[in-house]
This record gives sequence, structure tokens and C-alpha cells, in this order.
Amino acid sequence: MAARQLASGTRSLARRATIRLMRKVYTSDNIAIIGHLRQVLEHHAIPCIVRNDFLFGGAGELPVNETWPEIWVVDDEDVDRARALIDAIVATEPESEPPWLCVSCGEKVEGQFTDCWRCGASRPEPGG
Ligand SMILES: [Zn+2]
Repeated sequence: MAARQLASGTRSLARRATIRLMRKVYTSDNIAIIGHLRQVLEHHAIPCIVRNDFLFGGAGELPVNETWPEIWVVDDEDVDRARALIDAIVATEPESEPPWLCVSCGEKVEGQFTDCWRCGASRPEPGG
């Protein structure tokens, strides 16, 4: 019992955030989205950096498949705001729409298209 109380007491003495801690808020293999999100965050006065932007950095020594670009928010206090912005943006990205199957010709059509590129049939209504 005494040991357990000591442990919890020690935890409360843990260092407070006197140092600014950078936080990773988003990672994706899509450098276009990363770049877009970074611009939006900066537009909202949230300082951030991009790591592993190998396509633009051109270093070439990183294994591409293992290292996705990451967005880091510089100031810990901005993390919640940044995540909310990113969630809203990512949710509305056209690329997040799943591909659909054309009922007319059976072609697989990317989610951002509302009509079949092959035969011109409209995308079926969800659940219909
Ligand atoms: Zn079709």
C-alpha cells in the first residue's frame, strides 16, 4: 500500500510542460495532402513543420516505403486546434471517397467521379 501511494505521489511531480514539445498531428503517404494541411495550419497561425518530405527534400537516403511525411505542430498548445482543422480537411478530401462499381458496365470508378468514365452512367445512390 505504502509503495503504491508513493508511486502516485511521484507521478504528480512529473515535469510540467515548461519546455515546448512538438507533437506529430498527422502522417500520410500523400505529400500533396501534407503540403495542403501545412498551408492551412500556417494560415491559422499554427506553427508547424513537415518531416520526411523526401519528395521535396531530395535527400534520397530514406527508404520511401517506410517513411511517410509527417506534420508536427511546434507548440503543444496548438495541437487540439490543429487536429480539429486536419480532421475537417481530411474528411472532405475527395480522395477519401471509396471507388464505386458502375451498375451499367461494371467498371470500377474512382470515388471523386460522379459518372462512369467509360459509359457515362451515374453513380448509384448509396443504399439504392
Ligand atoms: Zn459504366
